[in-house]
Amino acid sequence: APLEVGQLVAEVVDHFRHAFERPFSVEVPPDGVWMLGDRDRLEQVLVNLLENAHKYSPAGAPIAVRVERTGEAARIQVQDHGIGIPGADQAQVFQRFYRARNVSHRNFGGLGLGLFISHSIVKMHGGSLALCSREGEGSTFTLDLPRMAAHEVRRLPRRVLVLDEDRGQEASA
Ligand code: ATP
Ligand code: MG
Repeated sequence: APLEVGQLVAEVVDHFRHAFERPFSVEVPPDGVWMLGDRDRLEQVLVNLLENAHKYSPAGAPIAVRVERTGEAARIQVQDHGIGIPGADQAQVFQRFYRARNVSHRNFGGLGLGLFISHSIVKMHGGSLALCSREGEGSTFTLDLPRMAAHEVRRLPRRVLVLDEDRGQEASA
């Protein structure tokens, strides 16, 4: 179904703001970025990325989330200033049960499934998920999802498009 990415991201980040004492910032384009997708699954991807950013960052370190429109994509970036991922592990973190060498069950719990699941959901949507990270400095995950073109958005029913006055409410209300 059609969904506005900025609104979805803002909602998920708000949940994290309420759950954790940490500065979360979110930047979304004011005029919306639309895509076709499975809202619940995409929400799960965002939750996984934000959970990681939170889990692998020291208390109080800020997490920044940005949504932007690129040529063909709705781009979502989640940036943290946490432990980072060693270069030698970066290519493998999307594999099932893979955990980087700088994490252990003693310091950070986890199964190594979040990114594997997220990556499959993103692929199902025809998108990509990439990371840029430096051990000891932090990580940025970049999620690109095929977005709707302006002329496709214009063809959406009006009731779907009503969202801007009331971000945070269902776009289709
Ligand atoms: P879970 O299944 O509960 O999500 P997990 O967090 O270990 O467990 P993934 O989310 O799949 O598993 O992440 C895989 C690995 O990638 C992690 O174990 C960790 O080594 C690394 N990783 C992922 N995100 C980050 C991050 N933001 N900062 C540092 N390391 C990360
Ligand atoms: Mg995880």
